[in-house]
Amino acid sequence: MRIGVIGAGPSGLAVAWEIVSRARARELDVQVDVYERATRAGGNVWTDLVDGYRVEQGPEGFLDSAPRTIEFATELGLADRLVSAADAARHRFLYVNGRLHPVPAGPLALLRSGILSVPGRLRVFAEPLRPAGTEDDESVLSFATRRMGGEAARRLVGAMVAGIHAGDPAMLSMPAAFPELAAMERAHGSLTRALVATRREARRTKRRAGGPAGPAGRLTSLAGGLRDLIQALVRELGPRVHLGAEAREARWTGDGWRVAIGGKDEVFDRLVVTTPPWHAAALLEDVDLELATPLHDILWAPVTVVALGFAASELHNVNLDGFGFLVPAGQGVRLLGCLWSSSIFPGRAPQGRVLLRALVGGARDPEAAEYDDGGLLDLVRYDLSTTMGIDATPEMIRIYRHPRAIPQYTLGHLERLRAVRRRLERLPGLLLHGNGYRGVALNDSIRLAGDVAEAAMSDVR
Ligand SMILES: Cc1cc2nc3c(=O)[nH]c(=O)nc-3n(C[C@H](O)[C@H](O)[C@H](O)COP(=O)(O)OP(=O)(O)OC[C@H]3O[C@@H](n4cnc5c(N)ncnc54)[C@H](O)[C@@H]3O)c2cc1C
Repeated sequence: MRIGVIGAGPSGLAVAWEIVSRARARELDVQVDVYERATRAGGNVWTDLVDGYRVEQGPEGFLDSAPRTIEFATELGLADRLVSAADAARHRFLYVNGRLHPVPAGPLALLRSGILSVPGRLRVFAEPLRPAGTEDDESVLSFATRRMGGEAARRLVGAMVAGIHAGDPAMLSMPAAFPELAAMERAHGSLTRALVATRREARRTKRRAGGPAGPAGRLTSLAGGLRDLIQALVRELGPRVHLGAEAREARWTGDGWRVAIGGKDEVFDRLVVTTPPWHAAALLEDVDLELATPLHDILWAPVTVVALGFAASELHNVNLDGFGFLVPAGQGVRLLGCLWSSSIFPGRAPQGRVLLRALVGGARDPEAAEYDDGGLLDLVRYDLSTTMGIDATPEMIRIYRHPRAIPQYTLGHLERLRAVRRRLERLPGLLLHGNGYRGVALNDSIRLAGDVAEAAMSDVR
């Protein structure tokens, strides 16, 4: 049995590794090959080493609340390289009304917080009294406004959506983008009641629960940055990973898949496409237009990361005790947010230096992500001066452009996935995986990879 995996981002590498491990454990004769169009593996995930700074090009880390990612890293021999975010990184901030406010860690802190007006705060406390929604699909903004009022929806939820999805809350689908929260409302009638129940359960099982201050779990990475994970996977997979190998056209031959890759035709019994949906659509449109159409309809948001290194002595009046901050829409600042990377994980900047990563663009401000380097730098430095009072000149600058950074689970996403699933049922041995479908985070790529591997290996003896 030969399985082809298209794309060597975290999703493709994780599926290939899950297949190899299972085949080894079950002594099955399975050959897997991974094809990546770029000249390095990792997709959006890579760590650059620049003058002693360790700079993430994409994700900063993953939450340790998804046990599979930790197990996965452990299976790859990386247990002793896992690093947890510093305690200080529990402090997250929002830029509202001209200053940084701590994100409230609970109801009492919210009462005292200046993030919302007094009527806005009182409206949040009326959340348990609001009736549950009845729509199957609803925007994140509509859901949050219904539950917590318009101000909290725009400021608290809008900032969270910018931070996770780089998305517009009026466009994103609540049940697709935040299925757990949508399910909480369905199960408990109110998020407050659901949160109380979750906390009680977490106390009983001694787990950490999420809350208004941030998601459950602690941000985690590896000593050398997330590239440790990619490099370990590439090492384990060895010659099965083919770089500079773009898959251009797939065809069903009647008993397998023929794919044009790097000027050659490769033949597979099973084909796992882990590219973003828009690339999958192009690859598969000659196979089935009705499959390609909903894939084409999945949109994306661009994000550009501007990484800046400073001498700590130049920032002595600046508060860097925390994770960083997010900016809700309408606050007169174009940054989506800024991560204080060297305050989060050790070893991200040389001794006496500070590393910040500013995020620009998203669905809210896509043009800004496309500014030329000079324009981006001006924007970021102006906004860091406004938000954090930083006027120092950075000694290290790196700009990482992700023109199609994050798939957007807009209204109708779940219906599109149902349409995709119906078409896949007619195409034997074709599977889709990646962050375009059922979770945008690294944890989702890894959590779902085992199921995809099982499906790809079904009937192998
Ligand atoms: C700026 C930014 C910040 C982020 N922050 C976080 C974070 O803090 N935490 C978190 O969990 N997640 C974060 N994410 C999301 C995270 O990067 C994704 O979850 C992860 O990269 C998804 O992996 P993937 O393999 O599905 O897709 P990708 O990483 O997009 O990889 C897809 C791969 O397919 C390849 N490919 C495409 N077309 C073809 C073709 N025709 N032939 C061969 N290869 C092809 C691409 O070159 C690419 O390597 C962030 C993303 C960005 C952009």
